[in-house]
Amino acid sequence: MTKEQNDRMEKILSLCKRRGLIFQGSEIYGGLAGTWDYGPLGAELKHNVKNLWWKRFVTDRDDMYGIHSAILMNPRVWEASGHVSGFSDPLVECSKCKRRFRADHLENLDKCPECDGNLSGEKQFNMMFKTNIGATEDGESISYLRPETAGGMFVNFKNVLDSFHPKLPFGLAQIGKAFRNEISPGNFLFRSREFEQMEVEYFVSPENWKHAFEEWRGVMIDWMKEIGLKKEHVFEHEIAEKDLAFYSKRTVDFEFKYPFGREELYGLAYRTDYDLVRHSEYSGIDLTYFDEDQKLHFTPHVIEPSLGVDRTILAILSDAYDEEEVEGEMRVVLRLKPIIAPIQVAVLPLMKKDGLAEKAKEITRELKKNLRLMYDESGSIGKRYRRQDEIGTPFAITVDYDTLKDQTVTIRDRDSMKQERIAINTISSYLSEHFQ
Ligand code: ATP
Repeated sequence: MTKEQNDRMEKILSLCKRRGLIFQGSEIYGGLAGTWDYGPLGAELKHNVKNLWWKRFVTDRDDMYGIHSAILMNPRVWEASGHVSGFSDPLVECSKCKRRFRADHLENLDKCPECDGNLSGEKQFNMMFKTNIGATEDGESISYLRPETAGGMFVNFKNVLDSFHPKLPFGLAQIGKAFRNEISPGNFLFRSREFEQMEVEYFVSPENWKHAFEEWRGVMIDWMKEIGLKKEHVFEHEIAEKDLAFYSKRTVDFEFKYPFGREELYGLAYRTDYDLVRHSEYSGIDLTYFDEDQKLHFTPHVIEPSLGVDRTILAILSDAYDEEEVEGEMRVVLRLKPIIAPIQVAVLPLMKKDGLAEKAKEITRELKKNLRLMYDESGSIGKRYRRQDEIGTPFAITVDYDTLKDQTVTIRDRDSMKQERIAINTISSYLSEHFQ
């Protein structure tokens, strides 16, 4: 990482901590590598992103079924999926400092990048977190924290088929936690050991996979635009045939230009009928679909758009973070889209006295019914604007002495910093117009 890239990451991290978006996991105990805690504003941002995703990928459509499955699953699930035997990364260890590295992330496989010691030969390291279920700790009781949410959808394919009788093509989706014992977590939210995914398993007739793949590609591109990622920072990486997982016939990785460089953001894969066939073999349960028109049983094929929530948050923050000089002072501003901003409008009384605070609170109560709002009366008005800029609040309403006389307020746009005077009873329509 260059110094400039590192500085930008440091600034984003420090803003996240300073303003209560994201903190190091277990911080008062010195932290726990690969974990992050979302503070009040970060939780709100994450919540908004997940809600928007659920709306776009599930409820806006009539071919999608949302589920919420258990994190702990029968260990056979992960045998069938191939995770027990194959979900591993190549690991090398330094004989001197004992640090461990992912072999495929190193340029030189002989020398330790930290202390120049000798590196061991490669061995495979399974990334699933093992745990024991119940009171005994033997081989029989071993289970895993799920390494991806996809398994939940395959295991519930038949349940949804039997209870809703959907016709192909249709999909299952879920948002939830996934756990991977990454050898070297890092780059803030990019690679952690506990993270969230938003995944779709879309079931199609084998001959229709190309059409569905293109459709979901479009949905993902629209999504990235809607959450405010810059087009010039998103890249599609078509995985070469020789590098495809053995069950995949086509995979496109969506890469993003993070401050530390271009890396994977999302994946879109055509997984053939691999998963349903394997789960059927391992469970002994028929997971075919009956096509009424053709009077034919067959195993549907799958298109899988897989999105990491935390990488989404990191990409959003990376593109939204901005600094500019205003009247000789540096202004930090998060240019978040109103649809996902933790706070959409701040209401600020110019002074606490003379009835201004009461008036501002009255406006807050009214607008809070439909918007994410923050009331703030502490510090100078300039400081309060800066605070809202830093947490990405698109609009700030100021209540001043004229408000008491003529029922108007000023409304300040975060990006242009321009202020307009508008009537209180037009605030809602003004905002809905400007939220587009
Ligand atoms: P990478 O190659 O970066 O390890 P991957 O190809 O193993 O990622 P997938 O198995 O395709 O990732 O997981 C789907 C999505 O889940 C990724 O595109 C990413 O958004 C997210 N994801 C995967 N691993 C992590 C992690 N350790 N921390 C945060 N998000 C992750």
